[in-house]
Amino acid sequence: MARRGARVTVLERAGALREVGAGIQISPNALRVLDALGIGDRIAEVSAPSRGVELRSGRTGALVARIDYARHRPAAPFRVIHRSRLIEALARAARELGVGIELGQQVTDLPPAPLLIGADGLHSRVRAALNGAETPFFTGQVAWRALVPLEAGAAPVAQLFMGKGRHLVSYPLADGLRNIVAVEERSGWTAESWSLTDDPAKLRAAFAGFGGPVPGWLDQVRDCGLWGLFRHEVAPRWHDGTRAILGDAAHPTLPFLAQGAALAIEDAWVLAACLDARADQRAALERYQALRHSRAARVVAASNANARNYHLGGPARVGAHAALRAGSALAPALLFRRVAWVFDHDATDLRP
Ligand SMILES: Cc1cc2nc3c(=O)[nH]c(=O)nc-3n(C[C@H](O)[C@H](O)[C@H](O)COP(=O)(O)OP(=O)(O)OC[C@H]3O[C@@H](n4cnc5c(N)ncnc54)[C@H](O)[C@@H]3O)c2cc1C
Repeated sequence: MARRGARVTVLERAGALREVGAGIQISPNALRVLDALGIGDRIAEVSAPSRGVELRSGRTGALVARIDYARHRPAAPFRVIHRSRLIEALARAARELGVGIELGQQVTDLPPAPLLIGADGLHSRVRAALNGAETPFFTGQVAWRALVPLEAGAAPVAQLFMGKGRHLVSYPLADGLRNIVAVEERSGWTAESWSLTDDPAKLRAAFAGFGGPVPGWLDQVRDCGLWGLFRHEVAPRWHDGTRAILGDAAHPTLPFLAQGAALAIEDAWVLAACLDARADQRAALERYQALRHSRAARVVAASNANARNYHLGGPARVGAHAALRAGSALAPALLFRRVAWVFDHDATDLRP
Protein backbone atom coordinates (compact mmCIF):
# COMPACT_ATOMS: atom_id res chain seq x y z
CA MET A 1 0.00 0.00 0.00
CA ALA A 2 2.90 2.34 0.71
CA ARG A 3 4.27 1.63 -2.78
CA ARG A 4 0.94 2.83 -4.12
CA GLY A 5 1.15 6.10 -2.18
CA ALA A 6 -0.71 5.33 1.07
CA ARG A 7 0.55 6.50 4.46
CA VAL A 8 0.89 3.30 6.48
CA THR A 9 1.52 2.64 10.17
CA VAL A 10 2.02 -0.89 11.50
CA LEU A 11 1.13 -1.55 15.13
CA GLU A 12 2.82 -4.74 16.35
CA ARG A 13 2.54 -6.03 19.89
CA ALA A 14 5.91 -7.82 19.86
CA GLY A 15 8.76 -5.77 21.27
CA ALA A 16 11.10 -6.85 18.46
CA LEU A 17 10.63 -8.25 14.97
CA ARG A 18 11.66 -11.83 15.41
CA GLU A 19 9.82 -15.01 14.70
CA VAL A 20 9.62 -18.11 16.76
CA GLY A 21 8.73 -21.11 14.70
CA ALA A 22 11.60 -21.81 12.38
CA GLY A 23 11.26 -22.30 8.63
CA ILE A 24 8.59 -21.70 6.06
CA GLN A 25 8.04 -22.84 2.48
CA ILE A 26 7.48 -20.03 -0.01
CA SER A 27 5.65 -21.46 -2.98
CA PRO A 28 5.65 -19.85 -6.46
CA ASN A 29 2.26 -18.18 -5.88
CA ALA A 30 3.76 -16.24 -2.94
CA LEU A 31 7.07 -15.59 -4.71
CA ARG A 32 5.19 -13.96 -7.60
CA VAL A 33 3.87 -11.35 -5.16
CA LEU A 34 7.26 -10.85 -3.45
CA ASP A 35 8.80 -10.34 -6.91
CA ALA A 36 6.11 -7.81 -7.81
CA LEU A 37 6.87 -6.00 -4.53
CA GLY A 38 10.51 -5.78 -5.65
CA ILE A 39 11.96 -7.99 -2.92
CA GLY A 40 12.29 -11.25 -4.86
CA ASP A 41 16.09 -10.80 -5.20
CA ARG A 42 16.55 -10.15 -1.49
CA ILE A 43 14.48 -13.21 -0.66
CA ALA A 44 16.54 -15.30 -3.09
CA GLU A 45 19.76 -14.26 -1.29
CA VAL A 46 18.58 -15.49 2.10
CA SER A 47 16.51 -18.52 1.16
CA ALA A 48 17.21 -21.94 -0.36
CA PRO A 49 15.67 -23.49 -3.46
CA SER A 50 13.42 -26.52 -3.16
CA ARG A 51 12.80 -28.93 -6.03
CA GLY A 52 9.50 -30.11 -4.64
CA VAL A 53 8.12 -32.72 -2.26
CA GLU A 54 8.96 -36.37 -1.70
CA LEU A 55 6.34 -38.50 0.04
CA ARG A 56 8.08 -41.27 1.97
CA SER A 57 7.14 -44.19 4.19
CA GLY A 58 7.62 -43.21 7.83
CA ARG A 59 8.59 -46.72 8.89
CA THR A 60 11.33 -47.36 6.30
CA GLY A 61 12.03 -43.94 4.80
CA ALA A 62 11.47 -45.45 1.31
CA LEU A 63 10.25 -43.16 -1.45
CA VAL A 64 6.52 -43.48 -2.20
CA ALA A 65 5.99 -40.60 -4.62
CA ARG A 66 7.71 -37.46 -5.83
CA ILE A 67 6.16 -34.18 -6.91
CA ASP A 68 8.98 -32.46 -8.74
CA TYR A 69 7.92 -28.81 -9.09
CA ALA A 70 11.26 -27.84 -10.59
CA ARG A 71 10.70 -30.30 -13.44
CA HIS A 72 7.10 -29.32 -14.14
CA ARG A 73 7.53 -25.57 -13.63
CA PRO A 74 11.23 -24.71 -14.17
CA ALA A 75 10.39 -20.99 -14.46
CA ALA A 76 8.45 -20.83 -11.17
CA PRO A 77 10.85 -21.49 -8.31
CA PHE A 78 9.88 -22.83 -4.92
CA ARG A 79 11.98 -21.61 -1.97
CA VAL A 80 12.34 -22.29 1.75
CA ILE A 81 13.36 -19.62 4.25
CA HIS A 82 13.81 -19.00 7.94
CA ARG A 83 10.82 -16.93 9.06
CA SER A 84 12.96 -14.25 10.64
CA ARG A 85 14.68 -13.71 7.25
CA LEU A 86 11.35 -13.26 5.50
CA ILE A 87 10.16 -10.81 8.15
CA GLU A 88 13.46 -8.88 7.96
CA ALA A 89 13.15 -8.53 4.17
CA LEU A 90 9.53 -7.35 4.39
CA ALA A 91 10.24 -4.93 7.25
CA ARG A 92 13.26 -3.46 5.48
CA ALA A 93 11.30 -2.88 2.28
CA ALA A 94 8.43 -1.34 4.25
CA ARG A 95 10.74 1.04 6.16
CA GLU A 96 12.44 2.11 2.92
CA LEU A 97 9.00 3.17 1.69
CA GLY A 98 8.37 5.23 4.82
CA VAL A 99 6.09 2.79 6.65
CA GLY A 100 6.09 3.48 10.38
CA ILE A 101 6.55 0.23 12.32
CA GLU A 102 5.63 0.76 15.97
CA LEU A 103 6.67 -2.15 18.15
CA GLY A 104 5.37 -3.05 21.60
CA GLN A 105 1.88 -1.80 20.63
CA GLN A 106 -0.73 -4.24 21.86
CA VAL A 107 -4.00 -3.11 20.28
CA THR A 108 -6.91 -3.54 22.69
CA ASP A 109 -9.49 -1.04 21.42
CA LEU A 110 -9.48 -0.75 17.66
CA PRO A 111 -8.05 2.69 16.85
CA PRO A 112 -10.00 4.96 14.49
CA ALA A 113 -8.34 5.26 11.09
CA PRO A 114 -9.53 5.91 7.52
CA LEU A 115 -8.78 2.23 7.00
CA LEU A 116 -7.80 -0.30 9.67
CA ILE A 117 -6.40 -3.60 8.39
CA GLY A 118 -6.44 -6.51 10.80
CA ALA A 119 -3.43 -8.66 9.89
CA ASP A 120 -3.52 -9.85 13.47
CA GLY A 121 -3.51 -13.59 13.00
CA LEU A 122 -5.47 -16.48 14.51
CA HIS A 123 -7.00 -14.62 17.45
CA SER A 124 -7.78 -11.51 15.45
CA ARG A 125 -9.59 -8.73 17.28
CA VAL A 126 -10.59 -7.17 13.99
CA ARG A 127 -12.17 -10.43 12.81
CA ALA A 128 -14.13 -10.60 16.06
CA ALA A 129 -15.29 -6.99 15.61
CA LEU A 130 -16.56 -7.80 12.11
CA ASN A 131 -17.93 -11.29 12.72
CA GLY A 132 -18.50 -11.75 16.45
CA ALA A 133 -16.80 -14.38 18.59
CA GLU A 134 -15.84 -17.67 16.96
CA THR A 135 -15.28 -21.08 18.51
CA PRO A 136 -12.52 -23.04 16.79
CA PHE A 137 -12.39 -26.80 17.37
CA PHE A 138 -9.35 -28.95 18.10
CA THR A 139 -8.44 -31.10 15.09
CA GLY A 140 -6.99 -33.83 17.30
CA GLN A 141 -3.52 -32.96 16.00
CA VAL A 142 -0.49 -31.27 17.50
CA ALA A 143 2.61 -30.05 15.66
CA TRP A 144 6.17 -29.84 16.98
CA ARG A 145 8.63 -27.61 15.23
CA ALA A 146 12.39 -27.73 15.58
CA LEU A 147 15.65 -26.80 13.87
CA VAL A 148 18.68 -29.10 13.74
CA PRO A 149 22.10 -28.67 12.08
CA LEU A 150 22.04 -29.52 8.37
CA GLU A 151 24.04 -32.54 7.25
CA ALA A 152 26.42 -32.22 4.27
CA GLY A 153 24.99 -33.02 0.83
CA ALA A 154 21.33 -32.62 1.84
CA ALA A 155 18.97 -32.74 -1.16
CA PRO A 156 17.10 -29.46 -1.81
CA VAL A 157 13.68 -31.00 -1.36
CA ALA A 158 10.91 -31.18 1.27
CA GLN A 159 10.57 -34.75 2.53
CA LEU A 160 7.31 -35.90 4.09
CA PHE A 161 7.38 -39.14 6.09
CA MET A 162 3.91 -40.69 6.57
CA GLY A 163 2.89 -43.04 9.38
CA LYS A 164 -0.28 -44.14 11.11
CA GLY A 165 -1.72 -41.12 12.92
CA ARG A 166 1.42 -39.02 12.38
CA HIS A 167 3.71 -37.48 9.77
CA LEU A 168 6.94 -35.50 9.71
CA VAL A 169 8.07 -32.90 7.16
CA SER A 170 11.65 -31.71 6.86
CA TYR A 171 13.64 -29.50 4.50
CA PRO A 172 17.03 -27.77 4.44
CA LEU A 173 17.15 -23.99 5.02
CA ALA A 174 19.81 -21.62 3.70
CA ASP A 175 21.33 -21.04 7.14
CA GLY A 176 22.98 -24.46 7.61
CA LEU A 177 19.85 -25.63 9.37
CA ARG A 178 17.25 -28.31 8.78
CA ASN A 179 13.63 -27.46 9.55
CA ILE A 180 11.38 -30.12 11.08
CA VAL A 181 7.59 -30.09 11.51
CA ALA A 182 6.17 -33.23 13.13
CA VAL A 183 2.42 -33.80 13.47
CA GLU A 184 0.75 -36.35 15.75
CA GLU A 185 -2.92 -37.19 16.34
CA ARG A 186 -3.98 -37.19 19.97
CA SER A 187 -7.13 -36.74 21.99
CA GLY A 188 -5.91 -34.10 24.47
CA TRP A 189 -5.47 -30.59 23.19
CA THR A 190 -2.78 -27.94 23.49
CA ALA A 191 -3.42 -24.20 23.59
CA GLU A 192 -3.25 -22.49 20.21
CA SER A 193 -0.08 -20.56 20.93
CA TRP A 194 3.57 -20.56 19.97
CA SER A 195 4.76 -19.89 23.50
CA LEU A 196 4.51 -23.60 24.38
CA THR A 197 7.66 -25.64 24.29
CA ASP A 198 7.97 -29.37 24.80
CA ASP A 199 10.55 -31.89 25.94
CA PRO A 200 12.33 -33.21 22.79
CA ALA A 201 12.18 -36.70 24.37
CA LYS A 202 8.39 -36.64 23.84
CA LEU A 203 8.88 -35.82 20.16
CA ARG A 204 11.39 -38.68 19.83
CA ALA A 205 9.01 -41.07 21.60
CA ALA A 206 6.10 -40.12 19.31
CA PHE A 207 8.22 -40.93 16.22
CA ALA A 208 10.11 -43.91 17.66
CA GLY A 209 8.63 -46.19 14.97
CA PHE A 210 10.05 -44.07 12.13
CA GLY A 211 13.14 -45.08 10.15
CA GLY A 212 15.33 -43.64 7.37
CA PRO A 213 17.02 -40.37 8.38
CA VAL A 214 14.30 -39.43 10.93
CA PRO A 215 15.84 -40.93 14.14
CA GLY A 216 19.19 -39.24 13.36
CA TRP A 217 17.51 -35.85 12.90
CA LEU A 218 15.37 -36.17 16.02
CA ASP A 219 18.40 -37.17 18.13
CA GLN A 220 19.76 -33.70 17.46
CA VAL A 221 16.68 -31.76 18.59
CA ARG A 222 17.53 -29.65 21.66
CA ASP A 223 14.45 -27.38 21.78
CA CYS A 224 11.05 -27.70 20.18
CA GLY A 225 7.83 -25.73 20.08
CA LEU A 226 4.48 -27.48 20.38
CA TRP A 227 1.32 -26.26 18.68
CA GLY A 228 -2.24 -27.56 18.95
CA LEU A 229 -3.92 -27.41 15.55
CA PHE A 230 -7.43 -25.95 15.50
CA ARG A 231 -9.95 -25.70 12.69
CA HIS A 232 -11.56 -22.30 12.15
CA GLU A 233 -14.20 -21.29 9.67
CA VAL A 234 -13.20 -18.88 6.92
CA ALA A 235 -14.63 -15.57 8.19
CA PRO A 236 -17.94 -14.76 6.46
CA ARG A 237 -17.33 -10.99 6.58
CA TRP A 238 -13.93 -9.52 5.67
CA HIS A 239 -14.71 -5.80 5.90
CA ASP A 240 -17.23 -3.17 6.95
CA GLY A 241 -16.08 -0.29 4.76
CA THR A 242 -13.40 1.05 7.14
CA ARG A 243 -11.99 -2.15 8.66
CA ALA A 244 -10.73 -5.22 6.81
CA ILE A 245 -8.94 -8.47 7.61
CA LEU A 246 -6.37 -10.56 5.80
CA GLY A 247 -4.22 -13.67 6.29
CA ASP A 248 -4.93 -15.92 9.27
CA ALA A 249 -7.28 -13.26 10.65
CA ALA A 250 -9.64 -14.01 7.75
CA HIS A 251 -8.86 -17.68 7.03
CA PRO A 252 -6.69 -19.61 9.50
CA THR A 253 -5.08 -22.38 7.45
CA LEU A 254 -3.78 -25.71 8.71
CA PRO A 255 -0.15 -26.29 7.70
CA PHE A 256 -0.75 -29.43 5.55
CA LEU A 257 -0.26 -27.62 2.25
CA ALA A 258 2.19 -25.01 3.62
CA GLN A 259 -0.05 -22.20 2.35
CA GLY A 260 -1.10 -20.02 5.31
CA ALA A 261 1.57 -17.36 4.88
CA ALA A 262 1.41 -17.67 1.09
CA LEU A 263 -2.32 -16.84 1.18
CA ALA A 264 -1.66 -13.88 3.50
CA ILE A 265 0.91 -12.54 1.02
CA GLU A 266 -1.56 -12.97 -1.88
CA ASP A 267 -4.30 -11.21 0.12
CA ALA A 268 -2.04 -8.25 0.81
CA TRP A 269 -1.35 -7.67 -2.89
CA VAL A 270 -4.99 -7.97 -3.90
CA LEU A 271 -6.19 -5.68 -1.10
CA ALA A 272 -3.73 -2.94 -2.07
CA ALA A 273 -4.49 -3.33 -5.79
CA CYS A 274 -8.27 -3.14 -5.22
CA LEU A 275 -7.94 0.01 -3.07
CA ASP A 276 -5.63 1.56 -5.65
CA ALA A 277 -8.04 0.84 -8.50
CA ARG A 278 -11.25 2.22 -6.94
CA ALA A 279 -11.83 5.59 -5.27
CA ASP A 280 -14.83 4.17 -3.41
CA GLN A 281 -13.23 2.35 -0.45
CA ARG A 282 -16.26 0.21 0.36
CA ALA A 283 -16.57 -0.97 -3.25
CA ALA A 284 -12.83 -1.72 -3.31
CA LEU A 285 -13.08 -3.79 -0.12
CA GLU A 286 -16.11 -5.60 -1.50
CA ARG A 287 -14.12 -6.54 -4.57
CA TYR A 288 -11.18 -7.64 -2.42
CA GLN A 289 -13.40 -10.03 -0.47
CA ALA A 290 -15.08 -11.31 -3.65
CA LEU A 291 -11.69 -12.01 -5.26
CA ARG A 292 -10.12 -13.69 -2.23
CA HIS A 293 -12.83 -15.57 -0.34
CA SER A 294 -13.27 -18.48 -2.74
CA ARG A 295 -9.52 -18.90 -3.30
CA ALA A 296 -8.83 -18.96 0.45
CA ALA A 297 -11.72 -21.34 1.15
CA ARG A 298 -10.51 -23.77 -1.53
CA VAL A 299 -6.93 -23.83 -0.20
CA VAL A 300 -8.14 -24.19 3.41
CA ALA A 301 -10.31 -27.18 2.39
CA ALA A 302 -7.41 -28.81 0.50
CA SER A 303 -5.13 -28.37 3.56
CA ASN A 304 -7.75 -29.97 5.82
CA ALA A 305 -8.06 -32.99 3.50
CA ASN A 306 -4.30 -33.60 3.41
CA ALA A 307 -4.06 -34.38 7.13
CA ARG A 308 -6.30 -37.40 6.61
CA ASN A 309 -4.35 -38.61 3.56
CA TYR A 310 -0.97 -38.47 5.33
CA HIS A 311 -2.07 -40.34 8.46
CA LEU A 312 -3.56 -43.55 7.03
CA GLY A 313 -2.76 -46.86 8.67
CA GLY A 314 -3.24 -50.58 7.91
CA PRO A 315 -4.73 -51.72 4.58
CA ALA A 316 -5.85 -48.17 3.68
CA ARG A 317 -2.22 -47.04 3.87
CA VAL A 318 -0.92 -49.99 1.83
CA GLY A 319 -3.50 -49.28 -0.90
CA ALA A 320 -2.98 -45.51 -0.92
CA HIS A 321 0.82 -45.79 -0.97
CA ALA A 322 0.71 -48.35 -3.79
CA ALA A 323 -1.52 -46.03 -5.82
CA LEU A 324 0.77 -43.06 -5.13
CA ARG A 325 3.86 -45.09 -6.02
CA ALA A 326 2.31 -46.20 -9.32
CA GLY A 327 1.05 -42.68 -10.06
CA SER A 328 4.44 -41.16 -9.35
CA ALA A 329 6.22 -43.65 -11.61
CA LEU A 330 3.73 -43.83 -14.48
CA ALA A 331 2.12 -40.40 -14.56
CA PRO A 332 4.13 -37.89 -12.53
CA ALA A 333 2.39 -34.99 -14.29
CA LEU A 334 -0.96 -36.25 -13.01
CA LEU A 335 0.14 -36.00 -9.39
CA PHE A 336 1.54 -32.53 -9.97
CA ARG A 337 -1.71 -31.42 -11.63
CA ARG A 338 -3.61 -32.19 -8.44
CA VAL A 339 -1.77 -29.36 -6.64
CA ALA A 340 -0.79 -27.16 -9.60
CA TRP A 341 -3.85 -24.89 -9.14
CA VAL A 342 -2.43 -23.82 -5.75
CA PHE A 343 0.99 -22.84 -7.08
CA ASP A 344 0.07 -21.57 -10.56
CA HIS A 345 -2.24 -18.91 -9.13
CA ASP A 346 -1.04 -15.39 -9.94
CA ALA A 347 -2.55 -12.89 -7.47
CA THR A 348 -0.79 -10.01 -9.25
CA ASP A 349 -2.74 -10.69 -12.45
CA LEU A 350 -5.83 -8.77 -11.43
CA ARG A 351 -8.47 -8.47 -14.11
CA PRO A 352 -10.76 -5.43 -13.85
C1 LIG B 1 3.49 -25.91 12.02
C2 LIG B 1 3.17 -24.83 10.99
C3 LIG B 1 3.88 -24.79 9.78
C4 LIG B 1 3.55 -23.84 8.80
N1 LIG B 1 4.25 -23.82 7.62
C5 LIG B 1 3.90 -22.94 6.65
C6 LIG B 1 4.60 -22.91 5.39
O1 LIG B 1 5.55 -23.67 5.16
N2 LIG B 1 4.19 -22.01 4.44
C7 LIG B 1 3.16 -21.14 4.66
O2 LIG B 1 2.81 -20.35 3.74
N3 LIG B 1 2.51 -21.11 5.85
C8 LIG B 1 2.84 -22.00 6.84
N4 LIG B 1 2.18 -21.97 8.05
C9 LIG B 1 1.09 -20.99 8.26
C10 LIG B 1 1.61 -19.61 8.62
O3 LIG B 1 2.48 -19.68 9.72
C11 LIG B 1 0.47 -18.66 8.94
O4 LIG B 1 -0.61 -18.86 8.06
C12 LIG B 1 0.96 -17.20 8.81
O5 LIG B 1 1.92 -16.92 9.80
C13 LIG B 1 -0.20 -16.22 8.92
O6 LIG B 1 0.30 -14.91 8.79
P1 LIG B 1 -0.50 -13.65 9.37
O7 LIG B 1 0.39 -12.48 9.09
O8 LIG B 1 -1.88 -13.66 8.85
O9 LIG B 1 -0.62 -13.90 10.93
P2 LIG B 1 0.58 -14.06 12.09
O10 LIG B 1 1.77 -14.64 11.42
O11 LIG B 1 -0.08 -14.77 13.16
O12 LIG B 1 0.88 -12.56 12.44
C14 LIG B 1 -0.02 -11.79 13.22
C15 LIG B 1 0.77 -10.64 13.85
O13 LIG B 1 -0.14 -9.78 14.51
C16 LIG B 1 0.37 -9.47 15.80
N5 LIG B 1 -0.79 -9.19 16.66
C17 LIG B 1 -1.82 -10.03 16.95
N6 LIG B 1 -2.72 -9.43 17.75
C18 LIG B 1 -2.26 -8.18 17.98
C19 LIG B 1 -2.75 -7.07 18.73
N7 LIG B 1 -3.90 -7.13 19.41
N8 LIG B 1 -2.03 -5.92 18.74
C20 LIG B 1 -0.85 -5.83 18.05
N9 LIG B 1 -0.33 -6.87 17.32
C21 LIG B 1 -1.03 -8.02 17.27
C22 LIG B 1 1.14 -10.72 16.23
O14 LIG B 1 2.11 -10.42 17.22
C23 LIG B 1 1.78 -11.14 14.89
O15 LIG B 1 3.02 -10.50 14.66
C24 LIG B 1 2.51 -22.90 9.05
C25 LIG B 1 1.83 -22.91 10.29
C26 LIG B 1 2.15 -23.88 11.25
C27 LIG B 1 1.40 -23.90 12.56
